[in-house]
Amino acid sequence: MLRRSATQSCDIMIIPREIIEEIQHRSDIEEVIGSYVNLKRAGSNFQGLCPFHSEKSPSFTVFPATKSFYCFGCGVGGDVFTFVMKAENLDYVSAVETLATRAGITIPTDKNSASSEMSRRRVFDMNLDAAKFFRRCLYDEKLGKIGMDYLSGKRQLSQATIKHFGLGFAPNSFGMLTDYMHGLGYTDQELMKGFLCGKSQKTGRPYDYFRNRIMFPIIDTSGNVIAFGGRVMDDSKPKYLNSSDTPGFKKSRNLFALNYAKNHCSEQMILCEGYMDVIALHAAGFENAVATLGTAITSEQARIMSKYTKRVIISYDSDEAGQRAANRAMSVLAEVGMDVRVLQMNGAKDPDEYIKKFGPDRFRHVIGESKTGFDYKMQNILAKYDIVLPEDKIKAIAELCSLISEYPSSVEREVYISTVSSKIGVSKDGIAKDVERILRKRSQEYRNKESREAKMSIKGIGDRVNPDAAKNPHANAIEEAILGLMLLYDEYRNAVASQSIELSEDDFFTELGKRIFSEMMRLQKTDGGFAMSLMGENFTPEEMGRMQKMEHSRRQLTENGWDNFKSSVEALKSEKERISNRANGEWMENLRKRRDELKNKQTRT
Ligand SMILES: [Zn+2]
Repeated sequence: MLRRSATQSCDIMIIPREIIEEIQHRSDIEEVIGSYVNLKRAGSNFQGLCPFHSEKSPSFTVFPATKSFYCFGCGVGGDVFTFVMKAENLDYVSAVETLATRAGITIPTDKNSASSEMSRRRVFDMNLDAAKFFRRCLYDEKLGKIGMDYLSGKRQLSQATIKHFGLGFAPNSFGMLTDYMHGLGYTDQELMKGFLCGKSQKTGRPYDYFRNRIMFPIIDTSGNVIAFGGRVMDDSKPKYLNSSDTPGFKKSRNLFALNYAKNHCSEQMILCEGYMDVIALHAAGFENAVATLGTAITSEQARIMSKYTKRVIISYDSDEAGQRAANRAMSVLAEVGMDVRVLQMNGAKDPDEYIKKFGPDRFRHVIGESKTGFDYKMQNILAKYDIVLPEDKIKAIAELCSLISEYPSSVEREVYISTVSSKIGVSKDGIAKDVERILRKRSQEYRNKESREAKMSIKGIGDRVNPDAAKNPHANAIEEAILGLMLLYDEYRNAVASQSIELSEDDFFTELGKRIFSEMMRLQKTDGGFAMSLMGENFTPEEMGRMQKMEHSRRQLTENGWDNFKSSVEALKSEKERISNRANGEWMENLRKRRDELKNKQTRT
């Protein structure tokens, strides 16, 4: 919930956070900003001249992958709401309203309508109770036999795997779940809203939505059961039935088995088409497998994946439809800056079948041989031109060089340079020189931006945002690392909220750090948890920009694991101690001086 103003508590305007998230979801940041600023594509981002300070070369950057913008010149940044606040000189709520109108979303004005909404917590509790019901049915010798035969017989899943994923069975009945849930105090309205029940057109009464299906609970990274997928056991249609979006769940923003995979994917993640593929992979030791929830991958899901890993191996069905879907997934994933590969399986239609036929070791080998995104993109570029013609050939080479220059590793670049050289028949040297030229130009641009930024902070213009930072740059750097990690990863916020990691506002050194930390933790403890888009209410666009920068610099690093987080927290605490010891030391020193002066005076008189 969002209040118009903390002081106007008698007349508070409430915008449900689901609505805020929906508005953000439907307001493409590049499109909104593009209507104010002339944006040009630069790799996966966009650049333009900053509308907030005067400049001749563009330092204003829009990052579609993180739905954010940042100006390297003046330090303003944030999300789409922050941009509209700053550009139109509005407060946060008015900026939200402006974008709502633009996106065609009505904000509920009735104060009660928001409170009558079913809370996410209630949906999660309800789903957990339903999951227990489905599990009990699966283990019921009479009711669940057909389901158990399917899972352990046909699919050859072990009991441990069935338990691990909390699989269940929805009996072939129109009312068993409904009756059971009534007994636990859930209303018809709640059951229908949570998509556990449908509503009979004839009688208007609820009936069990999932019938005669294997039930897959979908669990978010905080361990809540947010929805269900139900699969038939034969060839009847639809093969999968999924919960529709509910207050606690959006299909486009969640992934199946991410709750497990997130702990095993620092190197790479495997993206599958179906739940059964994911389960088979996990059972075979590939615990980094996830699947989308019955839809093609969305950019939202790609962004979520990019928070946990840098590389994704797409492992879709080997038929034509699967390969088409893989192509599409590849570009969605590449757009958020991920290293994408595509698995090519011969002799099996999907990963589940492949592992059953050839075993996990062969599958691991196939993963190693997966095709890089580069090969795919090269094919796309070459398809546009007829390289027999000299002009076309030159254009193709220019595009390929620019593509190669996007890869940060020089080893990778060298490999691709040879690939292109042998493919088009141009010398490696020539291509390497062109790539080098592009890189030099780009790094010069970056250095210019950085020095502009540094100059401004020396003049005291740049760091009006966090004036305390200059007093102890080292402590500030540690603070920014901690906050950056916490802004990016739910699990670190959770660890601090549950006090499994001890960190409090007092540990922070700068006023800004303290404020960011305490607001973040406040939101974390609310019903829907933390969301960057809700921070705009209490921070200026300049401060939002600073947060963007903290998050952005963590994203550039591969080492964002628990060790890093813990050691940063330790470092901050010991820095705090060092500073307070030093302050104590100075105080003692002054005391000694004064005592000596007093002594001297006394001896003189
Ligand atoms: Zn600027």
